[in-house]
Amino acid sequence: MISGKTGWLVVLLSLMCLFTGCGGSAETSETEETAETKQIFAMDTVMTITAYGEKAGEALSAAEQEIERLDGLFSVGEDTSDIAVLNRDKKAVVSEDTLYLLQRSRELWESTEGALNIGIYPLMEAWGFTTGEYRIPEESEIAALLQHLDIEEIRWDSETREVTIPETMGVDLGAIAKGYTSGRLMDIFAARGVTSAVVSLGGNVQALGTKPDGSSWRVAIEDPFESEDSSYAGILEIADKAVITSGAYERYFEENGKRYHHILDPSTGYPAENGLASVTIVSAAGTLADGLSTALFVMGKEGAEAYWQAHGEDFDMILIEEDGTMTVTEGIKDSFTSDWAYSVLEKNT
Ligand code: AMP
Ligand code: MG
Repeated sequence: MISGKTGWLVVLLSLMCLFTGCGGSAETSETEETAETKQIFAMDTVMTITAYGEKAGEALSAAEQEIERLDGLFSVGEDTSDIAVLNRDKKAVVSEDTLYLLQRSRELWESTEGALNIGIYPLMEAWGFTTGEYRIPEESEIAALLQHLDIEEIRWDSETREVTIPETMGVDLGAIAKGYTSGRLMDIFAARGVTSAVVSLGGNVQALGTKPDGSSWRVAIEDPFESEDSSYAGILEIADKAVITSGAYERYFEENGKRYHHILDPSTGYPAENGLASVTIVSAAGTLADGLSTALFVMGKEGAEAYWQAHGEDFDMILIEEDGTMTVTEGIKDSFTSDWAYSVLEKNT
């Protein structure tokens, strides 16, 4: 749990989000007496988890333990985590969760033609995103690091769960770990008899069922421009879905008036720059939603739309371009409202 000064700030901020509907937050039912909420700081972010019903308290404790367990497996900064051991020793016997995520990442690497690449870690280090000591690497340094991004070099034995990576490779599950975690929380809630719950892991929302009164959860889609006159770009009504956003505005530094953000294009080694300000993925599957939010951000509008045309049975999306143009796919057009102008992308027939 959070504690001390930060704790209060976090509680305050999240209460503000709850009432003003700021980005990536889900509105909870205030009338329901049996609702319980927990605030947790994990995976470098603030998490708010809420469950309803008699089993809520017990389910939230189990959920908190699960968050801590998964953070302890995926964290690049924690010496004993699966990922830290793998990056240091280039070999590790990993948990089922880590192996699953490595396999899933590989599948998404393939289907997104390399836009999602968990081997990006050495480049994240070079840009200083892992320490906060930001810098623009030399072109030659980037060119050298681009040579070590071949995901097919990650090998595993599904029986023993031993994973090996080349000496030059480093792995970072930051693009999909939170979506996997929110998905796991849904399983934990359901297994404990909870039928109504919502979590926000640093703005990534996933909901189980509907609100206790049967109405949909209302999720605010963050305004990537942080405009003064609006705190969100729209409201999406969902049940049993994850709503996960990737944006240039989430983590960045500025140098000589230029912004360098944390989502890198694995084909160039530089922050992805293709006109998109944010990508929101809506899907029943948390891991998929998180992986695709990052990958489609890298792919740009044209690539994202083509990907949706090919794989749209598994997800919907909201694209916001740097000029404010917004596109919403047809599967969510009736559950989305916004004061902004937007167009609806229909399936090619
Ligand atoms: P997200 O907020 O889900 O878009 O994830 C962003 C995080 O994923 C970054 O902070 C990096 O840790 C990692 N990352 C950045 N670029 C990529 C990429 N192209 N493929 C996979 N992971 C990435
Ligand atoms: Mg992601």
